[in-house]
Amino acid sequence: MRIQFVNSLGDNAGEIDMALHIISIGMDGADATTFNHELAHLYVRKFWNSELIQKALKLYSKKGMTDTEREEALVDAITEMSIDNYFENT
Ligand SMILES: [Zn+2]
Repeated sequence: MRIQFVNSLGDNAGEIDMALHIISIGMDGADATTFNHELAHLYVRKFWNSELIQKALKLYSKKGMTDTEREEALVDAITEMSIDNYFENT
């Protein structure tokens, strides 16, 4: 077996920064809802250009919203749903 090391973070640098950001929040005593929220940001940004995320953003956007506000509205909606599911299924 041959192990190949990656010399550059390349296009993944942003994702790794975001992952480190999430881990640092988790280690800073954040509760599960914060962790979920930050994770949802990661997925929304990673798949921002996908048809699914663009459709979802349209559902939660209101006139005059910036992309950041639309992202926040969608992330809040995703997080609310995932927390609701968690409590319903445990
Ligand atoms: Zn947020």
